[in-house]
Amino acid sequence: MELVNLKDASDVVSFSQAVKRGLGKHQGLYFPTAIPKLANIDTLLEKPFVERSIEVLHALIGDELGDGVLNEIVEQAFDFPAPVEKVTDKVYSLELFHGPTLAFKDFGGRFMAQCLSRISQGKPVTILTATSGDTGAAVAHAFHGIDNINVVILFPKGKISPLQEKLFSTLGDNIHTVAIESDFDACQSMVKQAFDDPEVREGLHLNSANSINISRLMAQVCYYFEAVSQIPEEDRDELVFSVPSGNFGNLTAGMIAKAMGLPIKRFIAATNLNDTVPRYLKTGEWAPKATVATISNAMDVSQPNNWPRIEALIERGYLDKACLRGESVDEQYTQMAMRQLAQSGYTSEPHAAIAYRAVSHDLQEQEKGVFLGTAHPAKFRETVENVLGQPISLPKALADVAGEDSLAVDVAADYEALKAHMFSLLKDK
Ligand SMILES: *Cc1c(COP(=O)(O)O)cnc(C)c1O
Repeated sequence: MELVNLKDASDVVSFSQAVKRGLGKHQGLYFPTAIPKLANIDTLLEKPFVERSIEVLHALIGDELGDGVLNEIVEQAFDFPAPVEKVTDKVYSLELFHGPTLAFKDFGGRFMAQCLSRISQGKPVTILTATSGDTGAAVAHAFHGIDNINVVILFPKGKISPLQEKLFSTLGDNIHTVAIESDFDACQSMVKQAFDDPEVREGLHLNSANSINISRLMAQVCYYFEAVSQIPEEDRDELVFSVPSGNFGNLTAGMIAKAMGLPIKRFIAATNLNDTVPRYLKTGEWAPKATVATISNAMDVSQPNNWPRIEALIERGYLDKACLRGESVDEQYTQMAMRQLAQSGYTSEPHAAIAYRAVSHDLQEQEKGVFLGTAHPAKFRETVENVLGQPISLPKALADVAGEDSLAVDVAADYEALKAHMFSLLKDK
């Protein structure tokens, strides 16, 4: 696979290089120089998830990882299902929250971890990341127990829910969690400082594992194929996918699947009040506002970092602009959608409910809708219980960690203190 930096056409790399680097020169995103069109979609759709995903990823990535390696990676990364549930006559839900941390980020995180462990070939790597909740858990679980890769996760002490904290801070082994005595912005700025510090960057072989890594997108393409494969054939002719969006990685992956020939008629970019993209699609003007806090907090993003990849898909002629519409859903309609879903017998959480609302009132006569369920409702238990007025039970993964002790170490919001802590943990590893 060959990828080009969208900000510098002379920066062309392989898949392995793009996975290791994350971002290219001038902070540019990597984008495939060619997206393959698949000829055998109907046959592919009949295959089981893992076998089909290997074929889809092989078409994208090629042979560069070596014989049989891609198969191993996919088998180890995709060891949980992505079921489609029929919610109403015209609308389905693609449930992406049956992985170890109950969020769709498990797909990308686990695939990236497996890729990086092969690509680094036993050389030590340190993943350093800051989290305000979900990403940290997905990264921690994905890399837990992988040889030669150490993970350091910073989070703002006392500022995330105890259950969220336990989902990544009870693992131990190669997963090191650090409670910073400050807020999320302070955590992020300490991560930035570390990447700018050659002693740490080179001494500990830092990698960020963040959401712009190309391996995550490649993994996410696979579950769009899985969704279509589970929808009854008579409902497949005019499918509309509604994607709850924050940084727009999920939507980018869906649009790549369409570019490869997967029969999807169009997409809806569903956002909360942070509506930079829906406004842009209506007015042609890119005008981000200050980020506002909502109950769908994983989508509180006003400058989505994957957007240039969607522009590239359109500008390079893979997809027509008309196949994407934007829709912003406010807090009141989000809650209404959650209640409507509950009345149809389907318990949901705010992110998925936004996508449901966006698609259910936009469908035309012949169309069928699919919205992406990006997190398990129990991950947003308080909000869900408040809105629906009834208790919901914890799934096993959350119930299991609730009783365990956090292994996080407190560190002051001081870069030198963090650096000393990291070297004490990792210098001989
Ligand atoms: C990360 C996240 C999103 C947003 O996905 P993007 O790929 O960043 O657009 C939506 N819902 C949940 C629950 C998330 O954790």
